[in-house]
Amino acid sequence: MADPRLRDALCGVEAVLFDIDHTLVDTAGAFAAALRHAVTPLLGADADHDAIAAQWSRDRSGWYRAYTRGEVGYGEQRHRRIDEVLTDRDARPLDADGFAVFDRAFDEAFAAAWRPFPDAIIAVRRLRAAGLPLGAMSNAAAALQTRKLTAVGLAESVPLLATMDTFGVGKPDPRMFLEGARRLGTDPAHVVYVGDEPDIDADAATAAGLIGVHLQREHDRRFERCRPDQRRHLEVGDLTALADALALPSPGPTG
Ligand SMILES: [Mg+2]
Repeated sequence: MADPRLRDALCGVEAVLFDIDHTLVDTAGAFAAALRHAVTPLLGADADHDAIAAQWSRDRSGWYRAYTRGEVGYGEQRHRRIDEVLTDRDARPLDADGFAVFDRAFDEAFAAAWRPFPDAIIAVRRLRAAGLPLGAMSNAAAALQTRKLTAVGLAESVPLLATMDTFGVGKPDPRMFLEGARRLGTDPAHVVYVGDEPDIDADAATAAGLIGVHLQREHDRRFERCRPDQRRHLEVGDLTALADALALPSPGPTG
């Protein structure tokens, strides 16, 4: 059953854009598998792997965001993040050779652990059946995200439309969202953009003139929940809720 408020807000939507990590793909689960594999030689099998995975996803110093702003390279943000994990546990930071070993182990296990969220598969199938053009956008590199979408079986149904390295700017820059709408051939005002990060996904999409939807999965605690009266964006708990709201005809006035 669709949320009536969401259904009304999405009336007239003609296309849907998706974020990839933590939205279509269970990236946190893949991070956990990759870290367990790559950290075990450094901290042991008995290390606090669940806490390490949570720390990595939270990225308290914002190294990944710094990468998306072009301030550090992709490898450097990963090196800084693992050094934080290690020094928090009284281990030495990695030198260049040590990081290269970690990085290879991480990449191997990360790619082997890419999985789609089941609700993403269901939602994409339903939205395609409803005839809505779909696309994906990401701040991560195009080559990586193409491999990821292919691995989870979504490369054809949700084509990758823009990434920071191919387009030149990334989210939250409004040009990124407008480019996605342009690539779908749809007026931005009729395009939904859904992603897991409230500021650089939903709020930024809304600011660009799209309909921003925040995906707040139940077990995701990376971002503080806000009170409903603080919200500037629409919110769903999973992607089937979005499909419920989009695939049904407009209900007309409520009340
Ligand atoms: Mg994301």
